[in-house]
Amino acid sequence: METRDLSAHVPYRAGRGVEEVARELGLDPDGLVKLSSNENPYGPSPAAVEAIEDAVGQIHTYPKSSHTDLTEAIAEKWEVTPAQVWLTPGGDGLLDYLSRTFIRDNDRVLAPDPGFAYYPMSARSHGASVDQYRLSKSDGFAQSAEMVLEAYDGQRMVYVTTPHNPTGSEMPLEEIDRLAGEVDENTLVVVDEAYGEFTDQASARSLLDKRENVAVLRTFSKTYGLAGLRVGYGLVPEAWAEAYDQINTPFAVNKLACVAGLAALEDEQHLERTVEGARWAREYLHDNLAAETWDSGGNFVLAEVGDASTVAETTQSEGVIIRDCGSFGLPECVRVTCGTEPQTRRAVETINEVLE
Ligand SMILES: *Cc1c(COP(=O)(O)O)cnc(C)c1O
Repeated sequence: METRDLSAHVPYRAGRGVEEVARELGLDPDGLVKLSSNENPYGPSPAAVEAIEDAVGQIHTYPKSSHTDLTEAIAEKWEVTPAQVWLTPGGDGLLDYLSRTFIRDNDRVLAPDPGFAYYPMSARSHGASVDQYRLSKSDGFAQSAEMVLEAYDGQRMVYVTTPHNPTGSEMPLEEIDRLAGEVDENTLVVVDEAYGEFTDQASARSLLDKRENVAVLRTFSKTYGLAGLRVGYGLVPEAWAEAYDQINTPFAVNKLACVAGLAALEDEQHLERTVEGARWAREYLHDNLAAETWDSGGNFVLAEVGDASTVAETTQSEGVIIRDCGSFGLPECVRVTCGTEPQTRRAVETINEVLE
């Protein structure tokens, strides 16, 4: 038996894990610093851990009320109706849910280059083909409505990432608004705010009240430190919010993720520490790396280092794991996640030594 033709489908390449690298190098995993996947260096919210411990004896039951409770808390936070909150297995799950909802045969989507690898993957697995718009390095990877519209040709979905992974650049809200207004009314603009808590820029949430062709992606993986649980959500316009019930996998998000998400949402102390730590670290990286870097609105900094694959490999053999951006289409750059203060200092020292 053979699969359908998957030759255009590129597998997702995640940043490497600590255990994997430690085993390969014969090092103690505790001595490694992993700054390759934009995870939270302070760990999960302690309140979330406690909520999981309390709920773990109940995992023989389906997550009905925990799903409802988390949905309602998110709805309250964003001042939308619960139907406008689409809970999904990670933010990646939302990309799939939007693909399921919108993509028809022969549709095309428009994704950023460089950009997050799961946009094209999700679109392709739902039968769409993928066009790209270019963020230009010479322009500091600036993002505007105009640069997207130059590549726009009636695609069914357009993905915008702000703050953008891996460059850190942002698209101002007025530009997103303009983009959503200028594309066809049957083109969905997906605004990926996976790093939304790290920036001062306003969320595209406000556009949902006046536009029907915008959806906002948020996740518990980054700021809330729950990447291992796989929980994210979309905020969508009221007009088609009900579609969730028609395309949803039953009990999309598991019970432990639901209770942890709810607890993390209310843990302001953990959130503040995470955001402040990231702001300090990205300034530190920016000021001290012996390489060109770009301003970042996220919890990571992109740096131009020449042969990124060699630099990342050498840095890793010194115990600091960073992301070689070859798979993003930037083989001359590495992306360094904001760590704790000691981790970030060690990363800078190690990278600078390697660059020398
Ligand atoms: C991390 C990330 C996501 C979502 O990740 P999940 O772990 O699936 O929530 C989405 N978009 C971008 C750009 C990301 O970096």
